[in-house]
Amino acid sequence: MTTLSQALPRMFKPKPRRPSPFQLGWGKAILLAIPMLLLTALMTFGQIMSSGQPDPLVLLATLLAWVFLNTLFFLMVKTGRTDSYRSLLFVGMAVAFIVFFMTTIIETRGSLALTGENMVQGETPFCHLVIPMIILPGVLTRTIIFPGSLLSGFASVAGMIVLWTGASLVLGRGWCSWGCFYGGLDDGFSRLLKKPVIKKIDRKWTYLPYAVLLGIVLLSAITLSPAYCEWLCPFKAVTEFEAVTSFEAVIKTIIFVSLFIGLVVVLPILTRKRTQCGLFCPLGAMQNWTNKVNVYDVRIDTEKCTECGHCATNCPSFSLDESSYKTGKTLISCSKCGKCVDVCPKQAISFHIKGTQPGAHPRVARMLFLYPAFLFLATFGGGMLISAIWRILKLITTGSMI
Ligand code: SF4
Ligand code: SF4
Ligand code: SF4
Repeated sequence: MTTLSQALPRMFKPKPRRPSPFQLGWGKAILLAIPMLLLTALMTFGQIMSSGQPDPLVLLATLLAWVFLNTLFFLMVKTGRTDSYRSLLFVGMAVAFIVFFMTTIIETRGSLALTGENMVQGETPFCHLVIPMIILPGVLTRTIIFPGSLLSGFASVAGMIVLWTGASLVLGRGWCSWGCFYGGLDDGFSRLLKKPVIKKIDRKWTYLPYAVLLGIVLLSAITLSPAYCEWLCPFKAVTEFEAVTSFEAVIKTIIFVSLFIGLVVVLPILTRKRTQCGLFCPLGAMQNWTNKVNVYDVRIDTEKCTECGHCATNCPSFSLDESSYKTGKTLISCSKCGKCVDVCPKQAISFHIKGTQPGAHPRVARMLFLYPAFLFLATFGGGMLISAIWRILKLITTGSMI
């Protein structure tokens, strides 16, 4: 029987079976890490310094977050392993997001429960999962069917759309391993057990997100309200939800909590897969198509591949099958997490830039992917980490997070 104290350290432990073909010497690794060190310093400290005299606790939180970010990037570059270090930051960002979101909402609105008045006043932070639902009503009615602010406040509609569009153009579905602040939750839970209890999931379930996407797009256009947010979003259980003052609100709350426990916690633990992201999320389904318009993908060298299946078993996103070994291509849902690259015993998989010879310059392709991908993760995750660390420091020094 695995205890939690045994499982937790194992969650993120790199599992080096042999030296990665991408590992580098100290000199090269330090040189390649310096641009990230400077860019993240500019992003984090630059913002604080420009705001006048910084609070010492904010400064300390920023320093801790900056050191954490750059240690992970350096280890990624030095060891040649991507997913083990990416997941530490990705999961950390999701946890930091919950701390940041809940404390900020309680501070600004007084409660996590959302009232009709909050909605009328546009006090609902916009989240990227709403994007598929606002397009059709936006075209039909020229209005945004979401009770948030268009331009002002934190997580405004325009701000989130710009960030998501930029990340999607550059990373495609890589957004789901390097950008989305919800994705780290099922990613984290999927790492708790060493071996899956449920070993086989029928591939037909991977079509479910498309059905959810179609359903919520149509329903949102018909009702002119964001149907997924109102009825199906598992993350309502850990962010904000409608005040439970009616029978309808009770039903909604039961749905949110059940979906969260089932799809984000229990199934990822039992399957070692990202079941919420791979089998349910409608934005994930839409995000698949952005893989067609960005320059990065992950390719298999079919000459080196022995079809052992290790990569498909380990892929958390259902993005490899038998056809991949023949074609050398991942499926459209690949979120570019890098896990298959890390685990392939034949070193047959690598990041790749479309239009170039597959496998010709894998080290260069990997670094050209890692810079923008990590920068997006540092941009989203850094701010949330700073805020969460600051809240924790505040709790330690003043006894209150608010
Ligand atoms: S599938 Fe959805 S929740 Fe998961 S990482 Fe992608 S956008 Fe986020
Ligand atoms: S792990 Fe490597 S060798 Fe095995 S099937 Fe995947 S690509 Fe081929
Ligand atoms: S195919 Fe590889 S890079 Fe893509 S999601 Fe699966 S493990 Fe991650």
